Amino acid sequence: MIETKTQAATKSEGLKVVTDVVCPFCGTLCDDVKVVLDGNRIVDTMNACIIGNEKFKSAQAGHRVMQPLEREEGTTQFTPVSYDYAVEKAAQILAKAKRPLFYGWSSTSCEAQEVGNELAEVCRGVTDNTATVCHGPSIMAIQTVGAPQCTLGEVKNRADLIIYWGCNPIHAHPRHMSRYTIYPRGFFTERGFDDRTLVVVDPRPTDTAKQADIYVQVEQGKDYEVLDALRTATRGEDIPDVVGGVPKAQIVQLAELAKTKKFGLLFFGMGVTQTIGKHRNIDIAISWVADMNKYTKFSLIPMRGHYNVTGSGQVMCWQSGFPFAMDFSRGYPRYNPGETTSNDLLRRGEVDAAMVIASDPGAHFPVSSMKHYAKIPTIALDPHYTPTTGVSNIVIPSTMVGVEEEGTAYRMDNVPIRCRKVIDGPEGMLSDEEVLRRILARVKELKGLPAGQGH
Ligand code: SF4
Repeated sequence: MIETKTQAATKSEGLKVVTDVVCPFCGTLCDDVKVVLDGNRIVDTMNACIIGNEKFKSAQAGHRVMQPLEREEGTTQFTPVSYDYAVEKAAQILAKAKRPLFYGWSSTSCEAQEVGNELAEVCRGVTDNTATVCHGPSIMAIQTVGAPQCTLGEVKNRADLIIYWGCNPIHAHPRHMSRYTIYPRGFFTERGFDDRTLVVVDPRPTDTAKQADIYVQVEQGKDYEVLDALRTATRGEDIPDVVGGVPKAQIVQLAELAKTKKFGLLFFGMGVTQTIGKHRNIDIAISWVADMNKYTKFSLIPMRGHYNVTGSGQVMCWQSGFPFAMDFSRGYPRYNPGETTSNDLLRRGEVDAAMVIASDPGAHFPVSSMKHYAKIPTIALDPHYTPTTGVSNIVIPSTMVGVEEEGTAYRMDNVPIRCRKVIDGPEGMLSDEEVLRRILARVKELKGLPAGQGH
């Protein structure tokens, strides 16, 4: 076996290597990462991509929140407080609120998500995850028409046609292509790259598109039209000369090529879910994939971003039946995207307190949403300083799941994976799950509800 420079250096310097570590950054959840430790300090990683490597290193970065903080009224100044004080303050805010919003969840464990959703129910609030601004339309479409799906293991071993539509994995999921789709040698794809065809559909010639055998340059916002034409061409019916900027000949070529393959996969990203048509784009994509199964085997998988956004949808579904934007304000779970989604609630001023968990709406939500967030009592639970912590009233730090804490996460293909603990967190630092358990227990006391799980 060829020894890498890092492995050789590790031995000579007496460092320790932890193997089979899961990278808690993107929905690919790579589980072959090695982390090099010097005592309790991460000095290097092996196999992780540049983003994954940075995630592990961020455990020791200077922008960690090291103790709970309270913002001084009307200022941007924060005062350090104890965990007990922060938990009490958070519980008081949430117990007093008529309809608090709990947002985020996608970068923490399923165990923490489970407790958090119960907290939302006890407070008669709304619990929503980051799917609300990414793959929410995918989930809505999948719930509407179903979806032929498979695991990434099946893709690696069987798929000979890979289509990336409206996504750019080279930058967003850097190891997706090397671990599962284009480059690996699989059981029935022994020649790896040479056994597969890569198609990229995108308005821009992205770095992923530059690797493609066939690049389809769709006009911005015309995904529905091209998918519809592809479906029609697949059935052998006539289509217009140009659809959504794509010549008829290329659409027909793709339809015919797909039929000749043994196993095709459609991976799609926010370029499809967040452009005009939204869940209808996914609806028609699913319909085309379902049609394709008359000719060959075909599946689709959404390119989920945060490492456990899939898990958050799973946990919400098995707790209350809905995958995001779950509203308990009527005393039972309700879900109506466009009404109970975070941005809609914030922009209309329909929540009177908010707690953000393992997420950063301050960096991603529109200003109109964050203006309301800045006006109401707010709590942020996060290991790092973020634009959101900067405008929150109470900031509670936590350990990092998958680095300093074990926890379960779901990969983008809905496979649950157990994330490992690699190092100890900062002394006295609590996990997301523990902080949420303490707040839940105190909110129950304040509301006169019985202790224990469920109510
Ligand atoms: S592809 Fe994603 S999960 Fe894999 S190492 Fe990179 S950031 Fe981590």
